[in-house]
Amino acid sequence: MKIGIYPGSFDPITLGHLDIIVRASGLVDHLIIGVLKNSKKHPLLTSKERVELIQKVVANTTGLKSTIEVVDFDGLLIDFAKQKKANIIVRGLRAITDFEYELQIAQTNHKLNPAVDTIFFTTSVEYSYVSSTAVKEIASFGGDISEFVPKEVVTSVYDKFKEIRSI
Ligand code: ADP
Repeated sequence: MKIGIYPGSFDPITLGHLDIIVRASGLVDHLIIGVLKNSKKHPLLTSKERVELIQKVVANTTGLKSTIEVVDFDGLLIDFAKQKKANIIVRGLRAITDFEYELQIAQTNHKLNPAVDTIFFTTSVEYSYVSSTAVKEIASFGGDISEFVPKEVVTSVYDKFKEIRSI
């Protein structure tokens, strides 16, 4: 049984992430979307909110070929993979700048556990410039993010900025 883990911050999930999820689901029997809890990036959404959003998006997505599980996790990815009995780590590559970082992490993870391999999906061209960071930047100024994130995500991101401003 091929069990894959797609780890990331998903703050928030974008159409680029969703594209990778759909494509990766064709390669594994079960795909775990691992939401990083303790991101050093000071996430906009809590890990619980990110997990719930992804679950909603996945439930409304057609064309998924494997079962999908969405959970948050902390600590070393390779430990989480072992705990989940996963043998494949899924990552996406947008640009050459992603490559250097991803190569190092993949080699380190393979050294830590040779039973786990990382596979990379090159981004679909229409999403190559989409990032969670850009989505947050645009939304913080009230710009339109509907081209970049699944429809279920749009209101949650605007609401979160409203909530922050009202504190
Ligand atoms: P991280 O904080 O670990 O970089 P992200 O949530 O930003 O997590 O991204 C998770 C994974 O998804 C990474 O492998 C990243 O390269 C990939 N990814 C992000 N945006 C896109 C996109 N638009 N197209 C393809 N892959 C993407």
